[in-house]
Amino acid sequence: MRHNNLLVLSLFVLGANAALADGFIEHEKHVHGKAQLNIAIEKNKIEIEFSTPAMNLLGFEYKPSSTEDKHQLAQALTTLRQGGELFTLGTCQLKESEISSTLLDTDHDNNHPDDKQSNPSLDHDSEHDQHHQSNHSDFAVHYHFSCSEGVPAQIKTGLFVAFTGLQHIAVTVLGEQQSQLTLNKSQNVINLL
Ligand SMILES: [Zn+2]
Repeated sequence: MRHNNLLVLSLFVLGANAALADGFIEHEKHVHGKAQLNIAIEKNKIEIEFSTPAMNLLGFEYKPSSTEDKHQLAQALTTLRQGGELFTLGTCQLKESEISSTLLDTDHDNNHPDDKQSNPSLDHDSEHDQHHQSNHSDFAVHYHFSCSEGVPAQIKTGLFVAFTGLQHIAVTVLGEQQSQLTLNKSQNVINLL
């Protein structure tokens, strides 16, 4: 049985994914340099959902084709999986991390180079618009921490050090009360109590 706050976080995530799928809220949320953290605390569990434009992690948002780009993606994935390095949560243990991104979907090619070649009449502006609509990519990473010795008073994040493209992170904490704050390179601590 799922706890209430975790269910709320799940709905958050489902909502975000649905929005991404139909491209509706994505434009408003997808701002390079900005990202979101949703944190749900329930008894001895902490769930963290990190959502960000791929630009902040990679410096690009197209499907990697060169060796250098692929290496960069592999490095970012390795860093993202190490939730225990990205988040300092007292004695809590990382139990699970799960990464999703359209850049990891091998069945779907966002770039459609053939489309552009078959439409030589496109003027610069419409080509530019098409570029913006089709070439943005996001990452969502889910972390599950177990805190058998209790929830810490604060969470410190190393995201700004690991990913220098990040400038602001909007944080929502769902605990006994809900709170919101914005992190930046000089303010990387989330107080929980
Ligand atoms: Zn983008």
